[in-house]
Amino acid sequence: MADGRATATLSSLLTSGRSATKTAVAPLTRRTTPCGATRPRGTSSRPRFAPTRPVLGHRHLSTTTTSSSASASSMSETHKTSTHFCDACGSETSVLVPEGDNRPRRVCQNCGKVHYVNPKVVVGCLVEHTCEETGARQVSLCRRAIDPCRGLWTLPAGFQECGESTSEGAARETREEANAEVSIAAPYAHLDIPAISQTYVIFRGTFKHASASRSGSSLHSPGQETLETRLFDLEKVPHEEIAFSSVRVVLGKYAEDVRRGRYSFHHGVIEKEAGVAASSPRFKLAQYTGLPTEHKL
Ligand SMILES: [Zn+2]
Repeated sequence: MADGRATATLSSLLTSGRSATKTAVAPLTRRTTPCGATRPRGTSSRPRFAPTRPVLGHRHLSTTTTSSSASASSMSETHKTSTHFCDACGSETSVLVPEGDNRPRRVCQNCGKVHYVNPKVVVGCLVEHTCEETGARQVSLCRRAIDPCRGLWTLPAGFQECGESTSEGAARETREEANAEVSIAAPYAHLDIPAISQTYVIFRGTFKHASASRSGSSLHSPGQETLETRLFDLEKVPHEEIAFSSVRVVLGKYAEDVRRGRYSFHHGVIEKEAGVAASSPRFKLAQYTGLPTEHKL
């Protein structure tokens, strides 16, 4: 940021004994925070709690300036996505290493709350089906109506919500994306993707009312985020049009299980380089473990 007053470190402000509110920028404009950062729409023009007081026991790294390239470059990916305002008291946060910790976090300048950012959990369902006409083993896929990967095929999956278990989330996502009611059979895969701070928990499931449908077509239909739902014979899965690396891994392992005639539980770490598209086959499955289960196909 060009304005040197706005990029003065919090440490210097605290050392001087003056509050950030008085020192950083004066007079305040309607679109800036006390330290010069751009203020989100709808927030107050003054801090909810003032003046800012020292937060003891933390190692200060930089001021919290949302538009400062200097401070942004010192932050990890997690801090780019974390809040710049405290969710407990509404004051601004700074990037600090809390006492006893070993990595930077966003810490409230006022109440000292540490805002941890942790990986997201994605839950989903591999819905199995046997075609009553051909006897073929099939899986249910959804063609995405939204980005990322619009137009490509995926398992019904999405972020786990607060207050639900992973299996409940998998069933909910299947209901939302494929209008399908499923019975969860067993956990099937756990995949980590550290590069994007996500972990995937995929369950096996079957349509609840499969016996009432000969063709399977009435068992599923596109939800709001889906262009099309379809049951694919395993050998006809469109591998060139799969949306995500995690889905690619799950479908590949499922095909191996079907060939063997027995389910395993699959765990691994998907490693990919920064900037590689979500749908790209350019990734490595590391630390893979396939644990045989008692479940036969
Ligand atoms: Zn706070």
